[in-house]
Amino acid sequence: LKRVGFIGLGAMGLPMAKNLLKAGYELHISAHRNREPVKELKQGGATEHTSLGELAAKSEILISILPTDKEMDSVLLSEDILSHLSTKSILIEMTSGSPAMMKKVARAYEEKGIRVLDGPVSGGTAGAEQGTLTVMTGGRSEVLEDVRPVLNAMAKQIYLVGEIGAGKAIKAINQMLAAMHMVASAEAVALAEKLEIDKEMVKKVIGNSSGASWMLMNKIDSLSERNFTPGFKLALMKKDVQIANDEAGEMPLPFAANTLELFKDAEKEMGDLDFSAIGKNILP
Ligand code: NDP
Repeated sequence: LKRVGFIGLGAMGLPMAKNLLKAGYELHISAHRNREPVKELKQGGATEHTSLGELAAKSEILISILPTDKEMDSVLLSEDILSHLSTKSILIEMTSGSPAMMKKVARAYEEKGIRVLDGPVSGGTAGAEQGTLTVMTGGRSEVLEDVRPVLNAMAKQIYLVGEIGAGKAIKAINQMLAAMHMVASAEAVALAEKLEIDKEMVKKVIGNSSGASWMLMNKIDSLSERNFTPGFKLALMKKDVQIANDEAGEMPLPFAANTLELFKDAEKEMGDLDFSAIGKNILP
């Protein structure tokens, strides 16, 4: 399986697609509003197609990493793609979307005999560039084994979590925690500044204590510098915390509910900044 179609060439998709070119895959892409990634990939050897149908027709493996459920619905369920993909091809769906949308997409593809793997990722843009992402897959193990070489070109850890939708579910739990840890880290930095504790001391001492988190250790510098360049857009994190809260339904998750309110308020003005910009409303 050497011919890969790639849809969604954003902060994550572009570096992931570049790693596929580097690994020797024949890459097929289509028009995106932002021309830069298309130009860059074409220079690296990718072929551009004028329609998603044409792209689908060329794809033995089709990879999508789109912003939200809405684009999963409008792009992946379009007749243009569904009618042009061969029944021998496999869709790897890597968006951080909802489990319900993942199941809806999988049903439409599987009805046509096309195999599907649910596979959202973690590791950020740095992990995407370095090819060290974590992939949280849902689906059948035979499907995973068929696409494992492609995933290996982009990722370091690949986990099979459960059935279709389970990848999206565990990703939502990860994102809920990541958002909470970001709020907690911003509060820690704010208090450390008020109490005149140097950030290097925070890293050294709390880094070796029970309050440490991956988020605090990795974001303390940018929070201290008030550097909110994305990265990972705040609007996308709000979407993730929303998915976690929706999945919880009536189950009370007070910290998650509170975190969602903070991200909803911040999204209006800061949706396109990095999600660490949630700290703007906390830091002095
Ligand atoms: P970006 O906003 O940077 O990129 C989104 C991409 O999707 C763009 O290439 C955009 O193309 C394309 N797109 C949007 N709408 C459509 C459409 N209707 N048809 C075709 N293409 C479309 O997002 P990210 O790369 O940051 O995130 C993608 C997904 O990965 C999200 O679900 C996010 O939550 C998740 N994620 C992000 C991480 C990060 O650190 N950024 C880390 C882990 C997961 P166009 O030029 O046309 O707008």
